[in-house]
Amino acid sequence: MDKMTEEQYRAISNMLRKRSLWMLHYCTGCGAMELPPTMTSRYDMERFGIVPYVTPRQADILLVTGYVNVKTLKRIITVYEQMLDPKYVIGFGSCAINGGIYYDSYSVINRLDAYIPVDVYIAGCMPRPEAIITMFKHLMNLIDSGKADGYKRYKQNYEFYKNNQRKVLG
Ligand code: SF4
Repeated sequence: MDKMTEEQYRAISNMLRKRSLWMLHYCTGCGAMELPPTMTSRYDMERFGIVPYVTPRQADILLVTGYVNVKTLKRIITVYEQMLDPKYVIGFGSCAINGGIYYDSYSVINRLDAYIPVDVYIAGCMPRPEAIITMFKHLMNLIDSGKADGYKRYKQNYEFYKNNQRKVLG
């Protein structure tokens, strides 16, 4: 039998990877309230192979659920850098996109993707479980097609991210 090409190997890896995603949810904001119904029997995210997990070192997804302030940004970066590749970041709720209703607060970071790469955003204040499931499916499609490449962008643009981080964290 012929050996698999690298491309075939990658396609199979991505297909399997998208059905086995361990998710660390870093609950920074009120939108986290919509996660329990998403995780439990009503919406049942486990049917897609997505399960909550407790340690960054074994997690594939970092879900940031809401506004991020200077203190939490520091922890988010530490958590993100402990995760192994390939890893994916989800910005959850309007606050993660642009600061939301806290956009002019002295302590709130308005754009999460200026500090770590975000693969998928989900808009809403707060996003409903139906929207969260749609977002998971979108992430799975990106993984399958090899387009969920935030972890590569972090390395390629490391100085950009580090400069932004230094500006707020010193
Ligand atoms: S987007 Fe809305 S629900 Fe989410 S953290 Fe901000 S204020 Fe809370």
